[in-house]
Amino acid sequence: VGLETDDPLVFRAKVSPNRPAVIEVATGRHLSYGELNELASRCAGWLAKVLPGGEDHPRIAYLGRNSIAEIIACLGCQRLGAVFVPLNWRLSATELQQILADCRPHMLIVDREFSEIAGETGPLLPPQLIVEGEAGFLARLQGARPRAGGRIAADTPCIILYTSGTTGTPKGVIITRRNAFFSAINFALVGEVTSQSVTLCDLPLFHTIGIIAIARTTLLMGGRLVISDRFQPGRTLSVLGDTALGITHYFAIPQMASALRASPHWNPAALKALKAIFIGGAPLSPALIESFLEDGVALVNGYGMSEAGTVLHMPLDKDLISAHPGSVGFAAPLTEIRLMASDGTDAADGDVGEIWLRGPAVTPGYWNKPKETASAFVDGWYRTGDLGRRDETGLLYIPDRLKDMYISGGENVFPAEVEAVIATHPAVRDVAVIGIPDPRWGESGVAFVVPASPEVLAEDILSHCAARLATYKRPLRVIFLEAIPRTASGKAQKHILRQSHTDTDPKPF
Ligand code: ATP
Ligand code: MG
Repeated sequence: VGLETDDPLVFRAKVSPNRPAVIEVATGRHLSYGELNELASRCAGWLAKVLPGGEDHPRIAYLGRNSIAEIIACLGCQRLGAVFVPLNWRLSATELQQILADCRPHMLIVDREFSEIAGETGPLLPPQLIVEGEAGFLARLQGARPRAGGRIAADTPCIILYTSGTTGTPKGVIITRRNAFFSAINFALVGEVTSQSVTLCDLPLFHTIGIIAIARTTLLMGGRLVISDRFQPGRTLSVLGDTALGITHYFAIPQMASALRASPHWNPAALKALKAIFIGGAPLSPALIESFLEDGVALVNGYGMSEAGTVLHMPLDKDLISAHPGSVGFAAPLTEIRLMASDGTDAADGDVGEIWLRGPAVTPGYWNKPKETASAFVDGWYRTGDLGRRDETGLLYIPDRLKDMYISGGENVFPAEVEAVIATHPAVRDVAVIGIPDPRWGESGVAFVVPASPEVLAEDILSHCAARLATYKRPLRVIFLEAIPRTASGKAQKHILRQSHTDTDPKPF
């Protein structure tokens, strides 16, 4: 990775300084590549002045909704060789405290909206806490001396990205400059991002899709990045339908896509420039894909993670999507993938194996977690903990996470498949399935269901499953809940369900 390529702005600011780079939906503020580059340099100069000296690659944490200020802070860190740590603003003070204790930032930049919660993290506050709105942040940079980029080694960390915390406490993933660059190029290739692309980002910048696939890729390729501070179906649809903006790429998690489709403002005819809606982060139901296809809109599924960015991606091809709606597509070209069977050999086509990854987009490991890093890597391969299956055409499928799969009566059960079936029951609002120890079957399924109507009975759910699933896949028990615990990216936190199940009901059968 060379000097001008691993800093996404240097080259663009030189060759197309007047081209629009970012637009902010909330304020209408926009910056050209020249202006964005100038602000990134000023931010680097300001950070160099206010940070305590002596640290080679200081960590700057950021707590705030998507904004141009956040983009500038991230790019300013890149220019200086500092490490940007975007924090999940949906977390509680206690959860944030754990993350701050883990990454020990040298500075925390907080948007005013979150100053109270930042204050509650108390004794762990880094030495410099700047509480100010976005306009204040930008004003502060005006007086700063710009700092030019220099040669910084490609294996220097530039971002620490905390995982969603679906399987436990979030882990800080180290993203080096090399990782960020190759991840962005990987996404540009599979997502067809070019200098003509206009991307809308209302997914939070604290996850890999927001900060790498959308923001980083768009700016590296010279496209236009439209930043929005929140997802709200009516508002999002009006931005998507704005012909002056001409959004070509929109990104969503499955729940957001279904909220758009159900909105009274849904009007596919208005989405003239849109190439596709890019989905990732959690299983996507074929029924949702089909309902969008009926309206002429492609939902393109992609599979990735904080540790490696985009790994698998469906091509932007409606016929292929319609023929294989359950697939996550092909491997992204810059990441090598392997499917490992449980006996340590490569799984044959059609068989399920754990997905292992290698390549320049893959993290070197977790911040401050040598034990977790050591157990996640084998001979230079990163073990994702996810299961994959390749069909004879080379398309891949994600049956579930390895940790969530369970074995009932000697047969593998993938809870994601059972959940997809239960979710089609009209009286089900939300569902999560786990396997628990079972004296007769080894393990058996428990379905946690959030009912859409109070009349629904456990027997209704069980008979719905009986009509659609093989016996060993059917859950033996239904527990009604008010809500399923989910992460900011909408994933069910099954470790919490497992824990609550063991706590309240030690001998269920
Ligand atoms: P943690 O690692 O803290 O348990 P997490 O794995 O959910 O949380 P992320 O890195 O944000 O944290 O999410 C990546 C995971 O999301 C993948 O490992 C995979 O399990 C799941 N995932 C991502 N994309 C898809 C997809 N298209 N279909 C199914 N699952 C997906
Ligand atoms: Mg994970």
